[in-house]
Amino acid sequence: MPAITNHMPTAELQALDSAHHMHPFTTGDELTAKGARVITRANGVYLTDSEGVEILDGMAGLWCVNIGYGRDELAEVAARQMRELPYYNTFFQTTHVPAIALANKIAELAPGDLNHVFFASGGSEANDTNIRMVRTYWAAKGKPDKNILISRHNAYHGSSIGSGSLGGMSGMHAQGGLPIPDIHHINQPDWWAEGGDMTPEEFGLARARELEQAILDLGEDRVAAFIAEPVQGAGGVIVAPDSYWPEIQRICDKYEILLIVDEVICGFGRTGNWFGSQTLNIRPDIMTIAKGLSSGYQPIGGSVVSDEVAKTIDGLEFNHGYTYSGHPVASAVALENLRILEEEGIVDRVREETAPYLAEKWHGLADHPLVGETQIVGMMASLALTPDKASRAKFASDAGTVGLICRERCFANNLIMRHVGDRMVISPPLVLSLAEVDVLIERARRALDECHAQLKEQGLMKAAS
Ligand SMILES: *Cc1c(COP(=O)(O)O)cnc(C)c1O
Repeated sequence: MPAITNHMPTAELQALDSAHHMHPFTTGDELTAKGARVITRANGVYLTDSEGVEILDGMAGLWCVNIGYGRDELAEVAARQMRELPYYNTFFQTTHVPAIALANKIAELAPGDLNHVFFASGGSEANDTNIRMVRTYWAAKGKPDKNILISRHNAYHGSSIGSGSLGGMSGMHAQGGLPIPDIHHINQPDWWAEGGDMTPEEFGLARARELEQAILDLGEDRVAAFIAEPVQGAGGVIVAPDSYWPEIQRICDKYEILLIVDEVICGFGRTGNWFGSQTLNIRPDIMTIAKGLSSGYQPIGGSVVSDEVAKTIDGLEFNHGYTYSGHPVASAVALENLRILEEEGIVDRVREETAPYLAEKWHGLADHPLVGETQIVGMMASLALTPDKASRAKFASDAGTVGLICRERCFANNLIMRHVGDRMVISPPLVLSLAEVDVLIERARRALDECHAQLKEQGLMKAAS
């Protein structure tokens, strides 16, 4: 077996990759035909591929590299921690300093009485924890039948059996026997695609009231919790109308339903505050965290839990945990990441400077003939591609055909922008400078122009009837 180095020709790396490496959310045969893009290094907001091309990472990896690439401090901390204590668990009456310090820091940053952290290795595991935790909570209160979790279609909460069931991705539910029992889905607050003739405000209220209707239909004594992302990320950066969240909060309060806010993307500065719940004025009982917690430098996530929920389940043994819950290296790296976010004022700069500037430029793309709505909260943004803005039309081609063409034009212009169906989304590192915002927008506009030209050439600028 040859050593795999950056000096191996790209084609050889691609051949080895397709021979032995199975990729997530990928059609293997298609990838073999095209060859994967091999990323070899990264610094700041730029990736470098095996051909030496520099690419602006408009997605911060997978929504996670909040402090940007190449921060030596995190590497130093990881090396130090590996030498001192590379691993120990937190089961059976043991603990260690990195997990203690990180849990304390998260409790300090988290809003309200969210003062307790149950660690996992990522968001999927943390949401699996949440399913078991809310059911255990109600059982401990003498209500074992209060075990249904309500979620939303087109939500993303992870890819394990439990978290994939919580999510509302139809393509995922179609494979592997999902969802598990006692998960119920209501519709999402996507006004552009589903709002019909309603105003956004009317539509936001109507979609929130689906939660109330579901609680009444299923029975208040059966519903344990509602889970949602503050802004749907993988679903297409869908920002609910302003009327939506206050009504959701009112309904959860009225029927005593636990509110789980999945902050895996929105947490740690993405929306211009430490948590999306603060930006949108939501009061969670549990928050799911991962991604930006370590800026992706180490796999770590968790559930941040209120005093009331923690106190209630503390009375029994919670038969749950992961070998790597609170892993010392991951915890130490996450702590260093939070130190950098805080001491360098990155979250404040996002709120006061970078996000407003990006918003102005992003909304400027709305004058493009292909672009329908533009949405942005902090440093996560989307635009809807459409053949006809006035009627909010979808394309006649299969959903995602146009989005994929646009993504490929972005790639060709050395910009990573993702497509979700025919929506384009960005979620760049929070350290993006104003000059880098300009580069991102310029490349995005060029990609949109090229995409538009290609659609016209191929006769794809047609609206679905
Ligand atoms: C990515 C994501 C998850 C899953 O996290 P993993 O670390 O991939 O398991 C859960 N919820 C949301 C909102 C996410 O974006």
